[in-house]
Amino acid sequence: MLHLSEQDRITYRYLLKVEVLKKVVPDRLPHELAVNGAQFVFCPDGDQFRYAYDHACRIIEAHRDITRLHVLTRFGGGLVLPADSPLHNECLGLHGSIFASQTMKHMDLVMLYAHAPCGAATEAGMSLAESLDVLCRAKIDLKRAAQERGANIKVACFLHIDAGPEEGRKTFFFPNGQWQLLTRHKPVKRGEPWPGHTSQAANR
Ligand SMILES: [Zn+2]
Repeated sequence: MLHLSEQDRITYRYLLKVEVLKKVVPDRLPHELAVNGAQFVFCPDGDQFRYAYDHACRIIEAHRDITRLHVLTRFGGGLVLPADSPLHNECLGLHGSIFASQTMKHMDLVMLYAHAPCGAATEAGMSLAESLDVLCRAKIDLKRAAQERGANIKVACFLHIDAGPEEGRKTFFFPNGQWQLLTRHKPVKRGEPWPGHTSQAANR
């Protein structure tokens, strides 16, 4: 099984400290949106899938008796969507599947995931920070594609993280707006540590 890299652990702890990663509160999802279930866009990773899926089930079950998740898997999950993502070659018609699922199942809610450590992301040389940056763009791209098709979808982003035996597995809500504000001052650059060699980052 993969382990979080030291740099990704620094990024993770920093994001917890500045409260960009949020505890998921199922009741905060608009009921009218979650009552039909959701599309669950995750990585097929056999070490992590079940944990993230169970977590998503609990979110949806807060809004309906029986869980209803339409599962769409690609290596890297939501990270495949942006055309400039290092994992875009894994996209394989995901846009089409999402819009088809919405039409067939009337599921307007799309739960878009990144997870770490992710074999596909690691293989593509992506750090946790870069993965989150790509996840943020994935939501923007999907909303744009939906607008072009006149489809009304709501996209929520999540990060599932396996921080090892001591800190365990957790799934967080990932607020795009907050990430954009944060990275306006501290942009993510490929191959460079993020948030950088600041005293804040070192304080872990
Ligand atoms: Zn993965």
